[in-house]
Amino acid sequence: MAGLAVSGGGIAGLAAALAASRAGHDVTLFSGSTPAVLTGGVQIAPNGWAALESLGLAESARAVSLRLNDITVRALDSGVTLIRLPLDAPYASFDRAALAGLFDTALSATPGLSRHSANLRHIHQQPAGVTLITDDGASHCAAGLIAADGGGGAGRHHVASNGSAGVLQRKVAMRAQVPLDSLPAHFALASSNLWLGRGVHVVHYPIGAMLNLVVTMPASRVVDGWQQRVIPATSPLAVLANADITWVRTPLAMAEAASCWRRGRVVLAGDAAHSMPPHLAQGAGQGLQDAASLAHHLASADDIEAAFAGYVRERAGDVSRIVQKADVSGKIMGLSGPAAHLRDLALSMGGPRLMQSWLAEVWAADPKLA
Ligand SMILES: Cc1cc2nc3c(=O)[nH]c(=O)nc-3n(C[C@H](O)[C@H](O)[C@H](O)COP(=O)(O)OP(=O)(O)OC[C@H]3O[C@@H](n4cnc5c(N)ncnc54)[C@H](O)[C@@H]3O)c2cc1C
Repeated sequence: MAGLAVSGGGIAGLAAALAASRAGHDVTLFSGSTPAVLTGGVQIAPNGWAALESLGLAESARAVSLRLNDITVRALDSGVTLIRLPLDAPYASFDRAALAGLFDTALSATPGLSRHSANLRHIHQQPAGVTLITDDGASHCAAGLIAADGGGGAGRHHVASNGSAGVLQRKVAMRAQVPLDSLPAHFALASSNLWLGRGVHVVHYPIGAMLNLVVTMPASRVVDGWQQRVIPATSPLAVLANADITWVRTPLAMAEAASCWRRGRVVLAGDAAHSMPPHLAQGAGQGLQDAASLAHHLASADDIEAAFAGYVRERAGDVSRIVQKADVSGKIMGLSGPAAHLRDLALSMGGPRLMQSWLAEVWAADPKLA
C-alpha cells in the first residue's frame, strides 16, 4: 500500500509526519518550496505538553524549553497586578526553531520517511488514494494526505468551502526579541506576562538569553514613534519603547476554523484546520494535539478513511470552541476607554479563579493522549 503524505513544514506538519510514522506508516513530507520561517517564541500549555508526551518528545522538549512559573496580568499604564495565576501543570516557552528542531531530529531518525522541499499544487482524489502534483511538476501517489500547510495552503482550498483563512485587517502584532542582559533583571523571571492597555496589549516572556516580545495593537496606530505613544513613559515597560529595538510587523490570523476538516482521503491539521489569533497562545499547541490524535486514530482504525474520520470527530468540535475563545479573548484584551477600565476591575475581582475557569477547557487534553 502507498504510504501517507503530509504537507507543511511548520510545527503541525512536522508533528503530523512524526505521528503518522509512529503509527506505522511510510510518510512523504512535502515541507514547502520555501523554508518555514520559524522565528520568535511560542508558549506551550498543558494540552500541548500532553501531546508532546504522547508523541514521545516531552523529555527532549523539557531540555530545550523554559518552564514558566506563572501567568501575570497587569495594567499597562499603572503596572498594577490584576491577576497572578501560578502554573502547576507544565507550561513553557520555546524558541520556535528549537521546537521544530525536536521534530526534525526525531524525523531524521525515522525509517520510511522521505522529505521533499516542494509545494503541493494539485490534489486529486481516487477511490483508493490521492495523486499529488507538486510545483516542480512531479506526481506522487499516497494512500491519504494530512494537509498541514497553513491557513492559505492547498489542503484548505481542497477540503473547505471557506478557502484561505483570513487575516485581521484592523490589528497587527509587532514582534521583537531583546537580549535579556540589556534589560532590568525582572524581565528574565520565568513568567509569562500580559500587560493590558487601552486598545493595546503586550506579551513577554524569556526564551533562552532573549526576551520574546509581542505588542498587539490597531494597525492604524503603527506610525513612526508608535512605541512611545503606545507604551506610556510612566509604565514599567517604558524601557521597551527604546528606538534601538527592531520590530517585525506580523499579520494576525482571523479566528476561522475550516468549514469542513476532511474530504475523502485528505484531512486538515494545524492552522490549515483552525487558524486563530494568538490571544490564547494555542495555535501551535492545538497543532500538536491534532498530531497526537492522528497518531492514536491511525494506529487503531482499520483503514485511512476511518482513521481520518475518527480524528475529525474527536478534534473538530473541541477546536472550534477554542478558536472562538481566542477571538473573544482578543476582543477583551483590545478594549479601550471605560470598557477597559471595567475589564481591569473585573479581572482583579475575579482573580486567578476567573482565569483558571476561562482556560480550563482550553488546556484540557484528551485523557487518552497522555
Ligand atoms: C505573534 C504570534 C504569537 C503566537 N504565539 C503562540 C504561542 O505562544 N503558542 C501557540 O501554541 N501558538 C502561538 N501562535 C500560533 C502559532 O504560531 C501557529 O498556530 C503555528 O505556528 C501554526 O503552525 P502550522 O504548522 O499549522 O502552520 P504554518 O506555520 O503556517 O506552516 C505551514 C507550512 O506549510 C507550508 N506550505 C504552504 N503552502 C504549501 C503547499 N501548497 N504545499 C506544501 N507546503 C506548503 C509553508 O511553507 C509552511 O511551512 C502565535 C502566532 C503568532 C502570529
